[in-house]
Amino acid sequence: MTTLRIPITMCHGTSDAGDFPLSRDHFATLVGIAAELGFTSIDYDQLAAWRNDGVALPPQPILFDFDHPVRSMLECHEVLSAQGFAGNLFVNTGPMEGDGYGTQTMTWDEIGGLHQAGWHIGAHTVTHPNLSELVARDPQGEQLQWELESCDATLQRELGLTPRDFAFTGTSWSSVAEQKVMQRYRFGRLWIVGSQYQADGEAIRYADLVGVSGDDEADGGPPCAARYITAETPAYRLPSMELQCALSHKPAAFRAYLKGALASDPAAADV
Ligand SMILES: [Zn+2]
Repeated sequence: MTTLRIPITMCHGTSDAGDFPLSRDHFATLVGIAAELGFTSIDYDQLAAWRNDGVALPPQPILFDFDHPVRSMLECHEVLSAQGFAGNLFVNTGPMEGDGYGTQTMTWDEIGGLHQAGWHIGAHTVTHPNLSELVARDPQGEQLQWELESCDATLQRELGLTPRDFAFTGTSWSSVAEQKVMQRYRFGRLWIVGSQYQADGEAIRYADLVGVSGDDEADGGPPCAARYITAETPAYRLPSMELQCALSHKPAAFRAYLKGALASDPAAADV
């Protein structure tokens, strides 16, 4: 029996910024590869049903994750829905209460529309603190607790839903944050942009944080085995692969990542 490996992508909407811009067209190219290879998008409810209750997933499952309620998420939705896919959006609620509401961010109605269209909504704090650095001034996690409770309360008030899943902020993690997240949510999701992470104020290899053995790969990222969700991946240390970085921005690299989910050995799937 082969191990099911679920690829999971992450981005902050479309963006022309940075060394690895993600235009609508580029995003559509990557999403088209997932469609061509026969993947089916799933959400965290399906992931939980599979992991906790043994409910079968559709063939070749993939998670398309997105952080931040930015307006370009509407474009991502158009691209995904054209292929029959839906995403998982993790909302930090602070920007929804700021000056950019409705211009830089979506409106609550628009987020509700995504939810209606099959998108799954998760929590991502209020002010988006660096969780690794927050430990030093908030050792008991009281400020963090406020971040989680307030985010959840706002999502409940505005969307009528209680988030069950959480995305950690940036590449920052703390054991206090994980404890708080475990008390509140089903899953905690991390973010891979390279091989390194920050945990409890220290630098750490991502692979070490998630307990995956082996050397980092030549592309600068963690071992291939750390890049997919499996039945064994710690529920509060799920991976996600950023599209706007060297690891999966090029169509060939992205295709290799997806094919790695289908191969018996993910490291052998390079195209
Ligand atoms: Zn974020």
